[in-house]
Amino acid sequence: MTALSKLLATIDADEVVELTRALIRIPSVYRPGDPEGTEARVAAFVEGWLRREGFAVLVQEVAPGRPNVIGWIGEKAPGRKSLLLEGHTDVVTEGDPAEWTWPPFGAELVDGRIYGRGAADMKSGLAAAMVAAAAFIRAGIAPKGKLVVGALVDEEDGMIGVRHLVTTPIGRELDAAIICEPEENEICLEQRGVVWARVRVRGKMAHGAMPEAGVNPISCLGVILREVPALEKRLRKACQRSRHLRPPTVTPTIIQGPPRGVGVPQSNVIPAVAEVTLDVRLTAGIDADGIRAELETVCRQAEGACPGVKVEWEPVNSFRLATRVDKSEALVQAMIRGVRRAAGRAPRFGGVPGSTDGTILRMELGIPIVTCGPGNRLIPHQVNEYVDVTEVVEAARIYALSALSYLEA
Ligand SMILES: [Zn+2]
Repeated sequence: MTALSKLLATIDADEVVELTRALIRIPSVYRPGDPEGTEARVAAFVEGWLRREGFAVLVQEVAPGRPNVIGWIGEKAPGRKSLLLEGHTDVVTEGDPAEWTWPPFGAELVDGRIYGRGAADMKSGLAAAMVAAAAFIRAGIAPKGKLVVGALVDEEDGMIGVRHLVTTPIGRELDAAIICEPEENEICLEQRGVVWARVRVRGKMAHGAMPEAGVNPISCLGVILREVPALEKRLRKACQRSRHLRPPTVTPTIIQGPPRGVGVPQSNVIPAVAEVTLDVRLTAGIDADGIRAELETVCRQAEGACPGVKVEWEPVNSFRLATRVDKSEALVQAMIRGVRRAAGRAPRFGGVPGSTDGTILRMELGIPIVTCGPGNRLIPHQVNEYVDVTEVVEAARIYALSALSYLEA
């Protein structure tokens, strides 16, 4: 028996399904201030599972009750690489349980689908990664290199889990990563980036009956809003066209004048300050400095058009740039072979509309990342979230054979 068929023979479909269900049944919505509202319980479950399977395990307490769990087999050495199968343990809120047909943490199995919060995003992907890596141990195949499974915290918010990982030795030595997020098992070589920019206009407070006595920052917001289409156009020019992703967009999402905490809105008062938040989505091709320069341009244009105002911007979150890897990358080639052998079909390529933990791995470590995992990409964060069992099992097979191929190459 070849290593390949040994691995496939070791992956048990029922086990992948039951592991997914077990993970869904442990709620892991992060609720600030609630000691029960963390990833701790599901992380402990993953840790116990990995230890029983014979993985070396490292638990990184990123924040109180919020541990990254890292399991691995094999070692990195000269000429031997380290590959990460990446998942996150947090899930977004279930919302109103009454709106669900099945209980959000019940993990009901109905007609070949598992229902529940995290079914697609992404406890199924995590389960598939765990079973894929364990298949090496069970089949008695020592990977040529290091195969790492990472169950990280806080992907849905500030991504503190992956940000921590990249500062630690096991993170810094990574050579590549497969991000197991729901992408219908497509090989996604690109992810859109996101920058939230808060543009703040300072004018001069005055009585609404005597506007000439002040400088109205709200009028200047109007100028900025009119500039948005031009900014979007410039970004589209600066960024590469993508076959799988929408071109860059700039969307105003919050307008406040005066901003909360800075003043009290009153009908007869021109506020001293007003601000607009721009949600900027990007494709690859522009770096952080390029984005900063474009936002500066908007600020200076607004100042030029509105005498007496001061316009500044600040990032609301740390930049998440778009990422893109080449088809010729060893990881991509390994995954193409992995999909062919595991799923018996030609690979399908796609793109990730938002950012993932992979964004941080790519930005901070410069390593190639590919996003590929079970679940319809439109389903996450909705009620009646589900995943197709066949996709989950296929993902486990793809991960195992892609890892085998990548580490052997
Ligand atoms: Zn996710």
